[in-house]
Amino acid sequence: MKRVAFIGLGRMGHGMAGRYIDAGFDVTLWNRSRTKAEDLIARGARFAATPADAAIDADAVVSMVADDAASRAVWLGDHGAGATMKPGTLAIECSTVSHAHALDLARELRGHGLVYLDCPVTGLPDAAAAGKLTLLVGAEPADLDRARPFLAPLSTTIRHFGAVGAGTVYKLINNLMGAIQIAGIAEGLAIAEQAGLDMKLVLESIETGVAASPQVIRHSKRMVARDFGGATFTSTLRHKDAAYAVALAESLLSSEPILGRAAVAAYARAKAYAPDGDEGQMIEIVSRPKGATA
Ligand code: NAP
Repeated sequence: MKRVAFIGLGRMGHGMAGRYIDAGFDVTLWNRSRTKAEDLIARGARFAATPADAAIDADAVVSMVADDAASRAVWLGDHGAGATMKPGTLAIECSTVSHAHALDLARELRGHGLVYLDCPVTGLPDAAAAGKLTLLVGAEPADLDRARPFLAPLSTTIRHFGAVGAGTVYKLINNLMGAIQIAGIAEGLAIAEQAGLDMKLVLESIETGVAASPQVIRHSKRMVARDFGGATFTSTLRHKDAAYAVALAESLLSSEPILGRAAVAAYARAKAYAPDGDEGQMIEIVSRPKGATA
């Protein structure tokens, strides 16, 4: 039986870990707060005291945590998985991290004799729980082939962008373009609301017009309805992704990433307003009428 250690049981990781249980893997879990693991333990997974303990006998360790700091802690911290993984074990980082962090982490884990795959994902938590994520992989082709049995329970699509770091480059541009679109739709809808337009007609027009994308259509409906029950992707995470993408842009481009920086500023404001709220809640800030106090 294949043994997987799964680290990080947030909105995404919880469903992903469940996929390994359903697929018959021997699953050991770790999450900073144990309560999120209880139902998975009831389904047959073990809970370890630390990432290092979780990783001891694993064939692959998969992580899905918030950001660079969390990723560094769970792989390389005092009780990080890297301390106990046997040489040759697969280290699969699915979290959205910065490009610089992905390269550093790969270098450090390879220094322990481990096989690193850069594997951020697209898809919402419901896709994670259903095994329908798209995986954006940066890895040596032979390493990806070895990892495929551990990626199959999570995904319907694997896109191999190149060497380690390439998956993260694509993930960051994808999420930067999303951040710009979502911030833009909030401002557009806010103008329409304050100008007194019929918002049902506005939504119909967006859906059938040239400004539409799947992202714009989904968010514009939620924003107009103020329907953010059960945040799927928080303002804090969107701000993080946009900031990582801008840092990458600054390292590669001679021109300033003006729109990227504007998106970072927009999400800094949304994060200050409701850090754990849905990213679309920025409409609640930007749609206040002129003269209203915050
Ligand atoms: P989430 O619900 O906020 O969960 C974050 C996870 O990270 C939790 O397990 C949390 O532990 C852990 N964590 C945070 N700081 C930590 C630290 N310092 N040390 C150890 N663990 C720490 O986030 P999510 O929505 O599942 O997202 C997880 C990753 O997937 C992020 O990188 C995100 O950008 C990416 N992503 C999310 C989506 C989405 O739709 N939500 C889609 C694609 C990719 P606790 O439970 O103890 O807080």
